[in-house]
Amino acid sequence: MTVPNITLHDQTTIPQLGFGVYQVPPDQTAETVAAALEVGYRHIDTAQMYGNEKGVGEAIAASGIAREELYVTSKLNNDVHRPDDARRSFDATLSALGLDRIDLFLIHWPLPTRYDGDFVSTWRTLAEFVADGRATSVGVSNFQPAHLDRIVTETGIVPVVNQIEVHPYFTNEDARAASIRHGVEVEAWSPLAQGGVLGDEVITRIAAAHDKTPAQVTLRWHIERGDIVFPKSMSAERMMENFDIFDFTLSAEEVADIAALDRGEAGRTGPNPDTFDYIPA
Ligand code: NDP
Repeated sequence: MTVPNITLHDQTTIPQLGFGVYQVPPDQTAETVAAALEVGYRHIDTAQMYGNEKGVGEAIAASGIAREELYVTSKLNNDVHRPDDARRSFDATLSALGLDRIDLFLIHWPLPTRYDGDFVSTWRTLAEFVADGRATSVGVSNFQPAHLDRIVTETGIVPVVNQIEVHPYFTNEDARAASIRHGVEVEAWSPLAQGGVLGDEVITRIAAAHDKTPAQVTLRWHIERGDIVFPKSMSAERMMENFDIFDFTLSAEEVADIAALDRGEAGRTGPNPDTFDYIPA
């Protein structure tokens, strides 16, 4: 089974399907990521906030898989947006992962009500990591259209991706469209709405028609819309299920029927990036 690659605007490529490790307990991360690599995943999405970069690094080191075959993403935590803090924490990320270069590093949240509203200097700091060769690419997460417009206007540096909440109950079209307009690829986080869409009757009907599971149909829907996804699972069986989505296609009508499940803001499961201001103690 071949996972398609997406070419980013900096001409590097990213596997369109990866494995997310949010809420994977740190002491189970190495074995969980090892299982995902065994299934065939080659793109791992972690974050400083998840506390499990070390386990990801251990699994990578133990796997024996060539570095160039792996795609690793991490994200800057909310308490380290100031440039010097960001530089120190990026050093710590590389050392926890046991890597001298990360494929992709993101600002996790814009925090527009913190740091005097300055996420622009944070963004310039991430660009330093590309310049010094320790990050292949940099991007953002949870950036609303106005946040994206601002960093691009003020720095001229375009993120390669914007990682935002997207699933059938929250299609987040404004943030998707703004990203696409800037040439920024969309990464859809919580692609299964943490399991919340899997009992939906439209999705279960389409799944039955294809002899696939609701999770497979939901992930296939994201793939056909062109978004990058990295579902999380603690179970090897579900890791395999989520990986097995490249032997069928949805019709345009099925894609539209799933998109029509959008509930707007009511469908959002995570915080609103305009107001989210959480800073770890
Ligand atoms: P997902 O939408 O990937 O759903 C994960 C949940 O669904 C888990 O409870 C899992 O349970 C269950 N599940 C997975 N596969 C199946 C299946 N085939 N059938 C039934 N249930 C299934 O949620 P996440 O929030 O983890 O999002 C994915 C990734 O996105 C994260 O791991 C993280 O990398 C990223 N993310 C980024 C955020 C950001 O702010 N940038 C915010 C949130 C997530 P089980 O483990 O038991 O299989």
